[in-house]
Parts: sequence; structure tokens; C-alpha cells
Amino acid sequence: MTDEHIDTIIIGAGQAGIAMSEHLTAKGFSHRVFEKSRIAEAWRTGRWDSLVANGPAWHDRFPHREFPNYAGDEFVGKEDVANYFSDYVEQFQLPVECGVEVKRVSKKPQQPGFYVETSKGNFHADNVVVATGPFHHPLIPPIAPAIDGIQQIHSAHYFNPEQLAPGAVLVVGAGSSGVQIADEIQRSGRDVYLSVGPHDRPPRSYRGRDFCWWLGVLGLWDATEHAPGKSHVTIAVSGARGGETIDFRRLAKQGITLTGMTDHFAGEVVHFKPDLLDNIRAGDESYLALLDAADAWIESNGADLPEEPTARQFVENAHCLTQPLTDLDLRAAGVTTIIWATGYSTDYHWLDIDVFDEKGKPRQQRGVSAERGLYFLGLPWQSRRGSSFIWGVWHDANYVADQIAIHKSYLAYPTISLS
Ligand SMILES: Cc1cc2nc3c(=O)[nH]c(=O)nc-3n(C[C@H](O)[C@H](O)[C@H](O)COP(=O)(O)OP(=O)(O)OC[C@H]3O[C@@H](n4cnc5c(N)ncnc54)[C@H](O)[C@@H]3O)c2cc1C
Repeated sequence: MTDEHIDTIIIGAGQAGIAMSEHLTAKGFSHRVFEKSRIAEAWRTGRWDSLVANGPAWHDRFPHREFPNYAGDEFVGKEDVANYFSDYVEQFQLPVECGVEVKRVSKKPQQPGFYVETSKGNFHADNVVVATGPFHHPLIPPIAPAIDGIQQIHSAHYFNPEQLAPGAVLVVGAGSSGVQIADEIQRSGRDVYLSVGPHDRPPRSYRGRDFCWWLGVLGLWDATEHAPGKSHVTIAVSGARGGETIDFRRLAKQGITLTGMTDHFAGEVVHFKPDLLDNIRAGDESYLALLDAADAWIESNGADLPEEPTARQFVENAHCLTQPLTDLDLRAAGVTTIIWATGYSTDYHWLDIDVFDEKGKPRQQRGVSAERGLYFLGLPWQSRRGSSFIWGVWHDANYVADQIAIHKSYLAYPTISLS
């Protein structure tokens, strides 16, 4: 056991913890990063084998290091993303300790600071930054019944088509994960059903520029909250096969059977909502709105970017879109696997401090919690749309480091310096 004092303890060495550590190092602030597994573990073992980053190499990175071996518009493979972060820790000599699990964090009574209990002993800290990621537990909705002979897994446990029993596959959820997984499995030669809910689907690129660039020049990465009615809308985008726009009509033409949202199960029969075409149309609207905004920006800024009229031409609706399935007898359709690409929940059971709202979400503003000295980093929409993405978290870390400096300064009164 130890009772060592550390100024700031960062919990988690994913991209958020590493960005935080870089910013504290730059300020000369003493700190340590405790990581229960390995650096960027989520990118190593929590993603399917063929995953590449959703943004191109010039975009999905921190400002002070480029990806070796990737040209700007290429999409980096997940192992190389993980290695990038390990190399980053080495390059900047960041104080990361792997294999240290934080078991409990509590507020010290009647004095500033925290007790931090870990698998290697107990520590005192003035500040704690929770950088444990936005995705803790794979979430499978309660409608899923156990069905004999049908394997059900979450997308977090999908790695490649070979791991699945022979037979057809139902993928539930058509955000970035569900779409890419369904496409990969169908290309491997299986029948695939893809249950599609409300989604946005940006163009992968338009008029010669990647959508990450468009979101940047249009100021959309900096949006501080979801557009009205969009908080439950997933985003379907992919860098697979060099980067293609996700186009549900093309997927249907390719042979994937699209269905509406999965509503309920009656024994071995799954019932779908009659919302497939509405979801596809709303996705098209989001796609076209981005093209319109891009065209307007080009016009307003006199930019010399090539026209791309084909971007507005849609593939004809396949049968599954004109006559959507209302239900599917899984056994009769030969479905042997259901993959739930339905998101994640969070778990802060070890954080014994009252900073959560009624939904269990951290009460925080740009990462600064209601408990002085306790910070969060890497939450979706923490400060803006870009917050949970690689490049976005780096900028949020900058802000949190400034807040730590200001807090330290107040506590150091009367030698206060709020620069
Ligand atoms: C399928 C998928 C694809 C994605 N693709 C992209 C993409 O292409 N581009 C992009 O910018 N973003 C992408 N993201 C979003 C985001 O970049 C990743 O989720 C990223 O892993 C989040 O980084 P993080 O540091 O916030 O959390 P994590 O990477 O989850 O890191 C948190 C770390 O905390 C550790 N930890 C947790 N609890 C404790 C504890 N009690 N004690 C000690 N350590 C602990 C964990 O082991 C983990 O290593 C993707 C997300 C998913 C799910």
C-alpha cells in the first residue's frame, strides 16, 4: 500500500488520457496516467479486424504527430491507430502506467482533493481526470430473447465473418458499425438482413474534398448541440475500401436485405417497424443538405472545386425498399447469427462522487464537473460535435488543462496567478 500524493491522476490511456497528459506535460504539471490494460486498448481489442478510421489520416490525428506510412487522404487501419498512440506516449515521454486499474475515487472530507484506490495501492490527488471513454458496456436492447441455435453478439465482439456459424446474419443497427459489418459479411458470401433506424449519412467526399473537411469549413464540427430532433440519430460513415459514401440503395442492390427498425420478437419471428423508407428518406435529406451547404460555401467563397452532378443521382430502389419486410422468421430464413450494433452504455460505479444526473450522465460543462478538481474528457458532445473524435478530444484536453491551471491557482492563494 502507498499513500503517495500525485497532483493530477488521469484515468485511462486512450486518446483522451493521452491528449490530457500531453497538455499537462506542456504546462509542466506533475501527473500520472493509470491504464488498466494497454495504451489505446479499445482500438486493439474492442473493434473488428478490418476497421479503418472514419476520417482520413490528415484529419483523425493529434496536431503534433502525423501517421507514418499513410498519405493524407488514406484511412488508417485500427492497429496503426493504436500504435500511433503508443508511439505518441513514447515520443512525448508521457507518464503512462499500464496494468493499473482504478477501483474507487472518492472526495476527501473537509479538504480539497481525492482518494484514488487502485490495483497497485492508494493515492491522494488534487485533481482527477476521468478519461475512461464513452463506451463501457455493449448495449443490447431488452427486446432480444434467447433463441436456441441462434448466436447473438454485440458489434464490440464481432471481429470477422469467419468467426460466425455458417448461415444468414441479421445486423440490427445501421450506424457506422452496423453498416460496415453488414457489408463485410454480405461480401463474404452470406445472406444479410440489415435493420435500419434513423440516421444521417454524409457524403464521404464531395467536389474533391472529404466530408471531414466540409464539416470543418462549414463550422459543423463546432456545433455545441445536436440539431433539433437529432439526438437519437446515428451517423453512417466509413473509410472502408478507400472511403465510399454509405448509400443504402446501393447496399440493397448489392444484395443486403434492408428492413425497418427491429420492433419486437414473437418466438423466432422478428417484427420490424414500417419506417424503412422514412429512415432512408431522412438520411437522404441529411446527405443532400450537406451537398447544398457545400455548394453554397463554394459559391460564397469563390472556391475552384470541380462540380459533381453525379453526387445527386440515386440508385433505383431495390425490392426490399419498395416492399419492405414487416417480419422475418429467423429459422426459415436460415439466420444463425444476430449482431447487435446498438451502441454502448457507461459505467462509473467506481466513481464514488455525486456528479451524475438522473440518467447517470456526468454533470459537467466542457469537462469541468460540479465537484471542483474532478474533470471528464472524451464524452460525446462534451464541448461540441468533435469531442469524442481523435482530433476533437485533443482540443478539449487543452481547455481542461487550462481549467486545472486556474483551479490550482485559486487554491494557491495568495500567490495567485490566473494567466
Ligand atoms: C467502432 C468504433 C469506431 C470508431 N472510429 C473512430 C474513428 O475512426 N475516428 C475517431 O476519431 N473516433 C472513432 N471512434 C470514437 C472514439 O475515437 C473511440 O471510441 C476512442 O476509443 C475513444 O477514446 P477514449 O480515450 O475517450 O476512450 P477509450 O479508447 O475507450 O479509452 C479509455 C481507456 O480507459 C481505460 N479504463 C477504463 N476504466 C478504467 C479504470 N477504472 N482504471 C484504469 N483504466 C481504465 C480503458 O482500458 C481504456 O483504455 C470510434 C468508436 C467506435 C466504437
